[in-house]
Amino acid sequence: MTHTPEPTAPLKALPLQIVIVGAGFTGCCLAVQMVRTATVPLAITLIEPNSHLGRGLAYSTVDPDHRLNAPAYVHSMLPDDAFHFTSWCLNNQVLERDPEALWSDGGLYFRRSDFGLYIEDTLKQHADWPATGCTITHLQDKAVGLFNRDGRWRVTTGKGNDVAADRVFVTTGNPVPRLPATFDSELAAHPGVLENPLNNPRLNTIASQSRVLLVGSSLTALDVLATMLRQDHQGPIVVLSRHGLRPKQQAPIPEPLLKARTPEGIAALPGNILLGRILRPVPAYFLEHGQALTLRGMVKALRAKTKEVQKEGANWYAVFDDMRDALWQLWPQLPAQEKRRFLTKMRTWYDVHRFRTVPQSDQRVRSAEARGLIRFCVARLKSVSAVNADSHLEVVMREKGQGDDIRRPFDVVINCTGLDAVKGMQANPFLVAASDSGYIRRDACSLGFEVDAHCRAVNSEGVALHTLRVLGPPTVGSFGDPIGAMFIAAQIYRMLPEVQESFKVNSNLDDDQLLIFHTRVPLM
Ligand SMILES: Cc1cc2nc3c(=O)[nH]c(=O)nc-3n(C[C@H](O)[C@H](O)[C@H](O)COP(=O)(O)OP(=O)(O)OC[C@H]3O[C@@H](n4cnc5c(N)ncnc54)[C@H](O)[C@@H]3O)c2cc1C
Repeated sequence: MTHTPEPTAPLKALPLQIVIVGAGFTGCCLAVQMVRTATVPLAITLIEPNSHLGRGLAYSTVDPDHRLNAPAYVHSMLPDDAFHFTSWCLNNQVLERDPEALWSDGGLYFRRSDFGLYIEDTLKQHADWPATGCTITHLQDKAVGLFNRDGRWRVTTGKGNDVAADRVFVTTGNPVPRLPATFDSELAAHPGVLENPLNNPRLNTIASQSRVLLVGSSLTALDVLATMLRQDHQGPIVVLSRHGLRPKQQAPIPEPLLKARTPEGIAALPGNILLGRILRPVPAYFLEHGQALTLRGMVKALRAKTKEVQKEGANWYAVFDDMRDALWQLWPQLPAQEKRRFLTKMRTWYDVHRFRTVPQSDQRVRSAEARGLIRFCVARLKSVSAVNADSHLEVVMREKGQGDDIRRPFDVVINCTGLDAVKGMQANPFLVAASDSGYIRRDACSLGFEVDAHCRAVNSEGVALHTLRVLGPPTVGSFGDPIGAMFIAAQIYRMLPEVQESFKVNSNLDDDQLLIFHTRVPLM
């Protein structure tokens, strides 16, 4: 799959031209679901700078200890077939190659790299889909501009391509991690500082005896620790977090889902087992009838229901998961100031319950902690600075309950504070261009871009555009938690009927309107 775009004679094509900007999980999942459900022929172009599709930030890792943070059945490109990925793994002997994927509770926690392979393979299988007359091609390039003339779009790219489109879908995903403000700004270039630890080969070169500080105790920290422990790191490791909250462990696997390890077991289970939960009405106990939804009301309902189920011998997971699965319906009902309150007061608490540990890594980390190799500390980071370019870093922090700041030397400081949405968007020229032209606008919490219930981009005048849609993590401000693979797949599933309906209206465009000015390469 090499892609050297060059001008060609204009193609005459009847299908509607669809451009998807970004081919991580969201872009690929959208293309696959769109092809399968199309009501008119579609020529889909995925614009993505990476040669491998479906990897994005989450699944580019090749580290064998970076696993999916939920069981296999929570990961599928087809939300009405929750076991699509599990079946792919069984058909491709993944468990034979990676027996550690099977955890002692019966759950399958495959490597993220295998999920990346599954996404790409599934995409390729849909590249030419005669049943609906659709095709998918890849333009290996980075989108940098967006223009609209007479209702048609043009996406321009870094390599000088100019791609015409009837519809544009923005699936640019997660922003790359950036250093928080407590770090001196020049430190991003310091050899001892890892600004972005995701898929960073420098993790593999950390000297075994070095003193290492991880800032943040999220799942990224768990990934980093898993890698360092595999490399038999011997120096002291400190994991600093402000609240001292750590991601919770996985919920027990529900009894019926333990069967989802063989083709026969899978065949006996309903494929829409998770989609059904996400699409069902909000559980009544979250809604105080006749009153506007508030954060306080939601938390009160959550607490009361948790107490109730605990009395019956159940645990908090079921109630929390009710809220998580219904959040896409609850969140839009919250006023903007309530959403902001959630971000300042509850975000960390929500995240540690929501994004749960990979059991294989968690066990290894807890055992290293018991041996004194890793210390988790609750502290506020005051500053990180370099003593000089090639020596150690000086960290000033104040531990919880201590009156004074302490100053400590570290050889390596790793940023595990998560993804900075605002800085990430500012660094993406396509998003900057689309926003500057007023085609998209920030949501009320500035976490991403505002969309309506059908993921239509809301422009600077407040109008929802049916020809421009935004999906996945950049819609977090509009839906609360469209982050995990299953929630993204379900978001696409919910949106598509309305999209397919709108395609029918446009399917009789003139050939002239469908000129394209670049060579796209089929996915072979
Ligand atoms: C480290 C990590 C681990 C995760 N693990 C899990 C997990 O185990 N299970 C789970 O359910 N969820 C997990 N997630 C959540 C994750 O958000 C989703 O699963 C999903 O991968 C998001 O996919 P995406 O395509 O929207 O974003 P991304 O993966 O970020 O992909 C976006 C793509 O858009 C491309 N792009 C961006 N800008 C442009 C442009 N201007 N032009 C062209 N292309 C562009 C990028 O190159 C990239 O390939 C994880 C997230 C992270 C960050």
